[in-house]
Amino acid sequence: MAFDDNMAKDSNNGESLRRLLEYTAAYEMSTGSPMLAYVHSFGCQQNVSDGEKLMGKLAKAGFGFTDEPEKARLIILNTCAVRENAEDRVYGILGRYKKLKENDPQLVIGVCGCMAQQQCAADRIKNSFRYVDLVFGTFVTDRIYDMLWKVISGRLDNRKERVFDLSDSDTTIHEDLVQMRRDKVKAFVPIMYGCNNFCTYCIVPYVRGRERSRTPEAVIEEVKGLVASGYKEITLLGQNVNSYSYGFAGLLRKINEIDGDFWVRFMSSHPKDAGRELIDTIIDCDKICTHLHLPVQAGSDRILKAMNRRYTVNDYMKIVDYARGRDKEFSFTTDIIVGFPGESYEEFCMTKELIRKVRYDNIYSFVYSKRTGTKAAEFEDNIPDSEKGQWLRELLLEQRETSQEWLSRYVGKTLRVLADGAGKTDGTLTGKSYENIIVNFSGGEQDVGRFVDVKITCARNWALEGEIVK
Ligand code: SF4
Repeated sequence: MAFDDNMAKDSNNGESLRRLLEYTAAYEMSTGSPMLAYVHSFGCQQNVSDGEKLMGKLAKAGFGFTDEPEKARLIILNTCAVRENAEDRVYGILGRYKKLKENDPQLVIGVCGCMAQQQCAADRIKNSFRYVDLVFGTFVTDRIYDMLWKVISGRLDNRKERVFDLSDSDTTIHEDLVQMRRDKVKAFVPIMYGCNNFCTYCIVPYVRGRERSRTPEAVIEEVKGLVASGYKEITLLGQNVNSYSYGFAGLLRKINEIDGDFWVRFMSSHPKDAGRELIDTIIDCDKICTHLHLPVQAGSDRILKAMNRRYTVNDYMKIVDYARGRDKEFSFTTDIIVGFPGESYEEFCMTKELIRKVRYDNIYSFVYSKRTGTKAAEFEDNIPDSEKGQWLRELLLEQRETSQEWLSRYVGKTLRVLADGAGKTDGTLTGKSYENIIVNFSGGEQDVGRFVDVKITCARNWALEGEIVK
């Protein structure tokens, strides 16, 4: 098969790529269809983006893709480690793949991502799931060709090769990674990787390492390419975009200067680093959506300290008040953990009070669950699950009541909405407004992927309803 020199440049493991290409091409010649891979990404947008890069690499090696693991010759689970039950789910799925491997010994099964980066998880897979061939962490995705070829060439030589690579020493950002995006309208663009914050409940700094930023030039080039290809919404990703080492506000301003009709969102902002400069930039730049996802986690200063969040409720409210005092409509969403170890009911009620004060357009709330490997896992988790569940219901009720009243400010107004796809009923579409509010409206397939103006007729708990303005 002809070999494109660019492919060799794409990777530091060009010889393995060459071999893989020959291998997949031979398979396609003999069967009449490409060798299929099934890649399943769990968890956050960052992981989805990593999964897209992995698929881009596999596509370059000649793989096609399927959504059915039964049809695949290569299965890769790109895992999440944020919650322990997500890991249990992966073990459950791996258990089901045993049968697939028995039916097709040539099948290659791999596990990567945050869960795989943890030695304890890799050891468990090594010992209890012996039919898993490949386990690699978050730092070595660009070595996929070497790892995969090692497994496959072992098979061809009748050797059973298993590859485990959890090394975290290479923190280089490889800008030559190709990406295979499934969505043609919305794209995730990581601007940085890792996290330095060590919130006591969070595993991310341990599995993704310290912060490292892509250069503005690399990010801008990628955004320009996406806009030129017709993407309408770009979401910049980082665990804490505000500590982007080349200056986040400056990056937003430069992206805003790119020609084209598109929106920019970003997540997440750490409240300790988000300030007036960020709000001013969002307000000055018309392509940057007026929405801030600002994870507060708790409404009590004592609990925030125990979480090592390094801001107080007062600091947090200063950002919110500054944005609300400006003459553009600004929307806030947040993450909240309910039932952190040692949290009292009175402290939990402070979180409800904060919800009333901020008037979030949406919240993402979670019951605290112990995450092995974090500092908080050593704290006494003294709140019964039933109580945590009750608190969560109270929190959601509070948010529902607050948000319905708060969203009604949009009734009668016309919002610009990016239509995502079909709504729940025939003849309706759903999308998100510039302010990040879910809007359901009447419309047809021809509007999907387009910006439309929608006159808001009604506010529901979490969403708005309206009609397209012709
Ligand atoms: S800022 Fe805190 S919660 Fe977010 S990824 Fe870093 S450690 Fe985890």
